[in-house]
Amino acid sequence: MRAIDETHDPRLTSWVSTANRAGCDFPIQNLPFAVFRRAGSAEPLRCGVGIGDAILDLTALGAAAAGEEEAVAQAMAACAQPALNALMALGAPAWLALRRWLSRVLRAGADEAGRLAAALVPQSAAQFVVPARIGDYTDFYTSIHHATAVGRLFRPDQPLLPNYKWVPIAYHGRASSIIVSGTGVRRPRGQLLARGAECPHVGPSERLDYELELGVFIGRGNRLGEPIPIERAEEHVFGLCLLNDWSARDLQAWEYQPLGPFLAKNFATTVSPWVVTLEALAPFRAPWRRLAPDPSPLPYLDCSELRAAGALEIELEVALETAAMRARNLAPQRLSQSDFRDSYWSIAQMVAHHTINGCNLAPGDLLGTGTQSGPLPEQAGSLLELTAAGTRPLILAGAEPRAFLCDGDRVILRGGCRRPGFVRIGFGEAAGLVLPSA
Ligand code: MN
Repeated sequence: MRAIDETHDPRLTSWVSTANRAGCDFPIQNLPFAVFRRAGSAEPLRCGVGIGDAILDLTALGAAAAGEEEAVAQAMAACAQPALNALMALGAPAWLALRRWLSRVLRAGADEAGRLAAALVPQSAAQFVVPARIGDYTDFYTSIHHATAVGRLFRPDQPLLPNYKWVPIAYHGRASSIIVSGTGVRRPRGQLLARGAECPHVGPSERLDYELELGVFIGRGNRLGEPIPIERAEEHVFGLCLLNDWSARDLQAWEYQPLGPFLAKNFATTVSPWVVTLEALAPFRAPWRRLAPDPSPLPYLDCSELRAAGALEIELEVALETAAMRARNLAPQRLSQSDFRDSYWSIAQMVAHHTINGCNLAPGDLLGTGTQSGPLPEQAGSLLELTAAGTRPLILAGAEPRAFLCDGDRVILRGGCRRPGFVRIGFGEAAGLVLPSA
């Protein structure tokens, strides 16, 4: 478990003045990672750290980083790669050393300020890419509120299947179609079974949806055949991003039995460019609880560290900007908010369960948390739930009805952490515009 240290001190400010603005996602207490280059340039992709409205280019520090301790030098060298995998593979001691060094050189009054200023790139001038080479992607189903609400739509008599409270349910997704925020999402085509029809037809999905999720990037992997014990699970986690698991509900309804999601999900998954590290999230921990009459988890999914602080408080929200809102210069409209602390399963449990059979995880692998819906109906993380499978459309600003997504809709996920005594940190955003089907 990462500790709270001097890098979380709320009194710290940065010489990058935009980092000190109230409400900024990237104050000096955050220091999230991304992979970028200047937009429109042929520069090599490299790793950077978000600070205020800028990116600190970790490959342009030159002499400022010379003579630093071995772990910092090693971490900086890993950041010259066009993906975060090399840094992820180094493990928690290197991540912590780099964080402490970055916190020191970016704080107000640091001797390095003059030399580092030349390594700042405005975020508005950057092109971002998916921050890691993602070898494998697994999507979990950790919100019991989502699982129950969706189950109720399909099985009113038995909303929650009996394995749910024992098994952190997941399916293997597809890494090739994971895209970075800002990339358009083409409406998928596929087999659809119209209501009352006997045979399916092929056409564009008419029930396109989003799913409000977090993504968990694996840091160090494990060898095939060697499970990761829950006590050590978080040592294998680098950090978290926002994740939109775009879903075609009509394709899904027709194809999902008996093997689960396939073409309804693998046409696009949007991630935020920023990865917020577990080190940055240390102040926002909460006890993980399983209250009676629900069963206690099996021993491989339970430990004292989990009970003490295994949950994370992360406020999540989804907003929608329709073409009509854009035309009228209206701000995106918030559709719902939820909090990751309401998740039934924790990050450590996801990792321990994924590897209990010896399955190997690798640096850069991505685990989705599943749709994060809260206990209240208005906290639902998908339109499927918010509109009762499309039967009760939302009425948006301007009296625009919305059951499922229309072409021209832009979906924006945001997230952040707040706690008295600490500075708020944010995740940036994961946004995507729905394009007409090909
Ligand atoms: Mn999902």
